[in-house]
Order: sequence, then structure tokens, then C-alpha cells
Amino acid sequence: MKGFVREIFSSLQGEGLKVGQRMTFVRFYGCNLSCAYCDTKDARSPKGHLLYNGVMYANPVTIDFLLDKIADRSVAITGGEPLLQVDFLKGLCHRLTESKKSLYLETNGSLPENLEEVVGFFDTVSLDFKVPSATGQCPLWTEHERSLVHAVKKDVFVKVVITNDIQLEELSTVCRIIARVRKDIPLVIQPASGERITRLLELQKAALQIIDDVRVIPQIHKCLGLR
Ligand code: SF4
Repeated sequence: MKGFVREIFSSLQGEGLKVGQRMTFVRFYGCNLSCAYCDTKDARSPKGHLLYNGVMYANPVTIDFLLDKIADRSVAITGGEPLLQVDFLKGLCHRLTESKKSLYLETNGSLPENLEEVVGFFDTVSLDFKVPSATGQCPLWTEHERSLVHAVKKDVFVKVVITNDIQLEELSTVCRIIARVRKDIPLVIQPASGERITRLLELQKAALQIIDDVRVIPQIHKCLGLR
């Protein structure tokens, strides 16, 4: 079985509740969305080479090819949107769990059926909820809620990237979906860039009226000058 992978690298987790943890990142090619703030556009398309340790390799690659390049105990599966290659992902996760790796999934929360197929392999799921004011795209509330219903079997948190244009109603919708599934699922509010701290605190306070755990966490890797 072969899949399309953009890059493999070891670094610290820069977002969400596992921030600071050392992980090997496996970044899959392909995405079904096109968010305005996307910082991994090169992973969306076209399907180019895989980059590892400064060397380019031709895609598609086998699972065995990937395995000996994954050095850390924790592995972040990211993209693009990794659930688009669900059969390859399943095969890779199977081998990684055999090697006792701890698996972390980053997904845009738009493919609930695919998530259901693989969620059992993961220790942690970082589930993005996309708000139209930041993505410039149509809302995906139904897909997000169905994804969260699957992900809640695991250690899960919801992440929402926001800009200064966010509407309070959008954030309230995110919180109401979380509350319907389980009120104590953490929500991470992640500023896209340069959002005012007073606004962030205001949003956090409003969200805490609906759910129990709301944290404002910027992208730490960017603060540290990492990729
Ligand atoms: S879902 Fe992620 S990878 Fe896809 S366009 Fe949005 S930010 Fe980029």
C-alpha cells in the first residue's frame, strides 16, 4: 500500500493542548478545504515530492519507507487533511501502534465517516472547527458535530482559528455543538495572527458561559521561530 506524504520531520508540537511535546510529524498531501489562513498550502496540492532531512523522495511512498524515518515516541499525523487517504492512514497507524507509538491526529473535522474508521488508533485528536469568518468558506457544523461524536471516544480537544472578524454567534455555535456532545471537552481558541488580546479575553469569557474549558493558545512554534 502506498500514500502521498509531503514531509516528515521531528519538532515540538506548536499548537493545542500538547504544546511543547516532541513529536515526529507526518504531513499528508491533499486537502478538501481551502482556508484563507492556511499555512500549509504546499501540502494541499499538487502531489509533489516528500521532503525528509533536506532530501526529496518521489511519491507515492510505502509504509515501510515511512516507518524507519519516525524516530520519536509520539507521532503527529497532519496535513493537508490526512483522512482523505484513509486506507493508507489505517495501514500506517496499524504498524505504528504495533511499535508502541503514541498517535496524535490533526484533522479539519469535515470527514466524520473516515474519522470513525481510524479513531481507534489515536491517543489524541485535535479537531478543527472551521468558522466562516476566518476560512472564507461555508460552515461545516454538521460534519464537525458528527466528527466530535466519534472523537470523544479518545482524548480530544476542539481547536478554532479566529481572526478579528469573528462573530460572537459563530463562537457560540461552536460551543453549543461541544456542549451537546460533552460540556467539558476543551476548546482552544487559536489567534490566526495579531488578534487583540482584549478581544480574545472577551471571546474566552463568552465561551465559558456555555462550556467548561476554554483556553487561548497561540502557535508557539511561530513565536519560537520554528516551522
Ligand atoms: S483544512 Fe488545514 S490544510 Fe486544509 S486548507 Fe484549511 S488550514 Fe489548510
